[in-house]
Amino acid sequence: MDRIKIEQTDITRLKLDGIVNAANNSLLGGGGVDGAIHRAAGPGLLEECRALNGCNTGEAKITGAYGLPSRKVIHTVGPVWNGGNNKEEELLADAYKNSLHLALEENLETIAFPNISTGVYRFPKEKAARIAISEVRSFLEKHPELKSVTFVVFDEENLKIYKEMLG
Ligand code: ADP
Repeated sequence: MDRIKIEQTDITRLKLDGIVNAANNSLLGGGGVDGAIHRAAGPGLLEECRALNGCNTGEAKITGAYGLPSRKVIHTVGPVWNGGNNKEEELLADAYKNSLHLALEENLETIAFPNISTGVYRFPKEKAARIAISEVRSFLEKHPELKSVTFVVFDEENLKIYKEMLG
């Protein structure tokens, strides 16, 4: 599907309607992609996030993007991988689904996802990619208003996995 793209880059460099942040429950910043987004956006983002009172795992909230080139940031919280019997797969699917619904509600036409939960949260990368691709594909089929979804692959392993799975 040509509305799905892969890019190996730092997500903070992209100029789209929205980028998704793999945040934690506090929404007050952290390491990895979350830290990179907060550093590039500047203190206004943290201030807006403080007023959101956190976010449950699998849910998503939206803010402005401040110093980032994109217009909006969708903050979602993926699950920490804990062996696989704690609804991890369902919660990761929810994080993608809820981010996509929020993008649509806010009239965002071009968005990008990082590989949620596959860093510090240790979700197995292939399993995560299969869930991410399947959620995005079925959403795009139902919603032609969403013009493109970019999977930002930061590490070589995810790049290889996404290239293989998306052909
Ligand atoms: P999580 O806690 O959800 O696992 P991480 O930020 O630790 O979140 O990792 C999620 C994914 O984001 C990892 O695949 C990591 O390689 C990637 N990543 C880290 N920094 C960036 C960045 N600046 N842009 C895009 N992806 C990034």
